[in-house]
Amino acid sequence: METKKKDIRALTKEQLRRFFVDQGDKAFRGNQVYEWLWQKSAHSFDVMTNLSKETRRLLEGNFVINHIHVDQMQRSKDGTIKNAVRLHDGLVVESVLIPTANRTTACVSSQVGCSLDCKFCATARLKRMRNLNPDEIYDQVVAIDNESRLYFDRPLSNIVFMGMGEPLMNYNNVLKAIDKITSPAGLGMSPKRITVSTSGVPKMIKKIADDGVKFKLAVSLHSAIDEIRTSIMPFNATFTLLDLREALQYWYNKTKSRITYEYVVWEGINDTKRDVDALVDFCKFAPSKVNLIEYNPIDDGQFQQATKGALDQYVSTLEENGIVVTVRRSRGKDIDAACGQLANKH
Ligand code: SF4
Repeated sequence: METKKKDIRALTKEQLRRFFVDQGDKAFRGNQVYEWLWQKSAHSFDVMTNLSKETRRLLEGNFVINHIHVDQMQRSKDGTIKNAVRLHDGLVVESVLIPTANRTTACVSSQVGCSLDCKFCATARLKRMRNLNPDEIYDQVVAIDNESRLYFDRPLSNIVFMGMGEPLMNYNNVLKAIDKITSPAGLGMSPKRITVSTSGVPKMIKKIADDGVKFKLAVSLHSAIDEIRTSIMPFNATFTLLDLREALQYWYNKTKSRITYEYVVWEGINDTKRDVDALVDFCKFAPSKVNLIEYNPIDDGQFQQATKGALDQYVSTLEENGIVVTVRRSRGKDIDAACGQLANKH
């Protein structure tokens, strides 16, 4: 009976070294293979030309290299690129390259579908199928880095975990992927250029504070009033704003890092003075920044972008209260890559 081959990229460098020692070879061979897999993104054992033929056959007999495949790449008029990424088991996730004048940002997925149920989000309509493995997250970043070099003549500069899925619900794999992205044996990127965007899972926010992670944290808030937040993000009934605030306070006390809130203003949902005042009040306990994000409707339903007047009211009140605020225009609308359209979005 044929035994199922293991995914070689699930092995640590140490495990690879041990494999070779167990085969009577040198541990160093493990380093060579590791470099091919992670620094050179090899998709087959045949390209590992500094290994003997026997060694390559040995690897082939024991392992597979699971890798993603970019099934479809769409380019927007504004330069945004959306990848439909096929995983080794046929499931598909999406990731996006967002170019601006001086940076290119990758927006990557962490789960196939999502276990949460935000009402404004296209991903919530897909049930959570599974978590992505560290290598599947890493590969999305590598694919976008290659596209950035090819189309914009520069390497990828930033990464946001804001695609499909709630990254803190797949924390271990996200962390392993970030380790690879930041390690010199991977892409060598600074963790300061990586932002994990969460819908706000209090227990996990405390955990990442305890773990001393170096990446940035962004929280998709969208309302600082419990009844409204629960109506658009139903898990807020369980993880209330009070729990969230307490966890963020804990995060701030440990890290002394400013907290970023992602916030969409929808017509008739969170566009009144009361909503603005509640946000200001919520932000007061620690240095904060608010990103007001333009929304792109996923259908003709209840979620529509608020008026410019409502946005202006947010901007001026936040500024009067000393809170940093930016307004982010969405990109890639014509290819459904904008916030809210990706079958994604926190
Ligand atoms: S907004 Fe984020 S957390 Fe909410 S359902 Fe969509 S992907 Fe999940």
